[in-house]
Amino acid sequence: MKEITCIVIGGGYAGINAVKALQQAFANKANGKSLRLILINKEPHHFRKVLLFKPPAGEADSALPLTSLFPEGVQLLQGTVTANEGKVRSLIYMDTSGNQLTLSYDVLVVAAGSIIRQAAPEQGGIALNSLEVAASIRESMVK
Ligand SMILES: Cc1cc2nc3c(=O)[nH]c(=O)nc-3n(C[C@H](O)[C@H](O)[C@H](O)COP(=O)(O)OP(=O)(O)OC[C@H]3O[C@@H](n4cnc5c(N)ncnc54)[C@H](O)[C@@H]3O)c2cc1C
Repeated sequence: MKEITCIVIGGGYAGINAVKALQQAFANKANGKSLRLILINKEPHHFRKVLLFKPPAGEADSALPLTSLFPEGVQLLQGTVTANEGKVRSLIYMDTSGNQLTLSYDVLVVAAGSIIRQAAPEQGGIALNSLEVAASIRESMVK
């Protein structure tokens, strides 16, 4: 095997830092073999969740194109991983056109984030977890 393929699932804070650390540690070579790095994310951007308070206040949103973070050295794929066949080291993902595709890997890093629990409506409160929610807060404030 002349090449090692490493796939990172998730372009959030954990995923992009995993990619950066892998790039720094291996400088595209792992055990003398070339390292093929693939980052797969649902969206084409890295979404800075900690800055989500900005859009409701009318400031610019918090999405950074992944291509600007990783102009080279990483293969960027937009898609949703739907299954992992761990025994044969193969991922299945759906691309933006709805095609189911397969990717083989040697090393897999899962950085797909977590599911945010929504407060029960009678308890009030809004889970500020997406640009859509941020926009709806802004809308309700400027009405
Ligand atoms: C408003 C707000 C303020 C915050 N403030 C702070 C703070 O001050 N300090 C702090 O430490 N933390 C803070 N946090 C928490 C912090 O933002 C999160 O802990 C962190 O962003 C989680 O990063 P992550 O990469 O694990 O997950 P995420 O940011 O959720 O990223 C996961 C990525 O994986 C992708 N993904 C998921 N499933 C799939 C799939 N099946 N296929 C392909 N891609 C997939 C998603 O599209 C996403 O891009 C805050 C959070 C919010 C919402």
